[in-house]
Amino acid sequence: MRAAVQFAVSRDLAVAVQSTGHGVTVLDEGGVLISTKRMADVTVDPQGRYARIEAGARWEQVVACAEPHGLVPPSGSAGHVGVAGYTLAGGMGLLAREFGYAADHVRALDVVTADGELRHVTA
Ligand SMILES: Cc1cc2nc3c(=O)[nH]c(=O)nc-3n(C[C@H](O)[C@H](O)[C@H](O)COP(=O)(O)OP(=O)(O)OC[C@H]3O[C@@H](n4cnc5c(N)ncnc54)[C@H](O)[C@@H]3O)c2cc1C
Repeated sequence: MRAAVQFAVSRDLAVAVQSTGHGVTVLDEGGVLISTKRMADVTVDPQGRYARIEAGARWEQVVACAEPHGLVPPSGSAGHVGVAGYTLAGGMGLLAREFGYAADHVRALDVVTADGELRHVTA
């Protein structure tokens, strides 16, 4: 991801990111479209009650990893929706009335900013 953004920055190209393509991704002609589809690892820490989720993962993967530990993620109505796009938009899930938006539960993010730097940010 970082290399792709740095490539675009070095050539003064616009960047857009896509995991599933369910949402609206607007890209100028000639820009760089980054697909996160293959960055899809999910690991669950049952003691800490959190998951580390890569940018291309879908909710159905998180549910499958969380369920054996008696945990459930703040996912929505469809398992094939991407965790990143859903959460960046807030994420109004099946348990939202009781537990709030998915974005409320984000503890930390590894983000590549527009200058091509990888930054770790915490909530
Ligand atoms: C069948 C279906 C059911 C749904 N149910 C719900 C629901 O119950 N609750 C709810 O809140 N929403 C729901 N949605 C809406 C869904 O949350 C949005 O469409 C969401 O944007 C999809 O995210 P995505 O990652 O799958 O799609 P994508 O198109 O891959 O991404 C969506 C947006 O996020 C951006 N994005 C994705 N990954 C990154 C990244 N790594 N870095 C920066 N930007 C990124 C993309 O550029 C795009 O603008 C549903 C959608 C569908 C199709």
